[in-house]
Amino acid sequence: MTAIGENFNGIGMTSTRTRARMVERLREQGIRDEAVLSAMAAVPRHIFVEEALAIRAYEDNPLPIGAGQTISQPYVVARMTELVRSGGTLSKVLEIGTGCGYQTAILAQLAGEVYTVERIGSLVAKARKNLRALKVGNVRIKHGDGSTDLGEDLEVDGILITAAATQVPTALLRYLKVGGRMVLPLARHDEELKGVQLLTVIEKAPGGIREQTYDAVRFVPLLPGLA
Ligand code: SAH
Repeated sequence: MTAIGENFNGIGMTSTRTRARMVERLREQGIRDEAVLSAMAAVPRHIFVEEALAIRAYEDNPLPIGAGQTISQPYVVARMTELVRSGGTLSKVLEIGTGCGYQTAILAQLAGEVYTVERIGSLVAKARKNLRALKVGNVRIKHGDGSTDLGEDLEVDGILITAAATQVPTALLRYLKVGGRMVLPLARHDEELKGVQLLTVIEKAPGGIREQTYDAVRFVPLLPGLA
């Protein structure tokens, strides 16, 4: 786990106080996990967005991060982290869709180790730079396609996918320990929910796979191949 220093406290709209207000809003929106709320209070979100957008970093909105991708809104980051943690401890987590590395930094506060995969090379470089600036050390970033088998020996207690899948990437489930969970935005195919993405938890329970759906969300698509 990584402790983030106080030297990233900005002034005015990027200060610790602004972040504390964001955390209060997350509480009002229903985030209950205190460890997640502490991590959201500790990680300076404005470091991860373009300088011109820094004053908007603590609003509850997604923001552009380049290459046509977005950093998720704080509520969604907190909610997905809460769901993957499920009140337990995380030793190792796999994240698919590093983007600018913000969700990665939150996970790094709560897990022993984070392994994160991003398909766009320029974003891999951006995330590396951001995480280095914050001295987050327990993260490994790979330029790869996380929609399929990673071709590695891996055992994790949580998988968090931050791009919308049209079906569960079952190739990744083999990395999950029994009792572990995968959290992802999943596009629905049923008639009345067509096109809607729902946060979905796939739990690898001792008796088999269990699936549960939560909030409606809007994510960029999980795409195959490298860019
Ligand atoms: N968690 C990120 C959100 C990034 S948006 C953040 O905090 O900034 C989703 C990301 O998923 C994009 O960067 C996109 O390039 C990436 N992505 C989409 N398909 C992917 C795939 N198959 N493998 C790895 N990354 C993927």
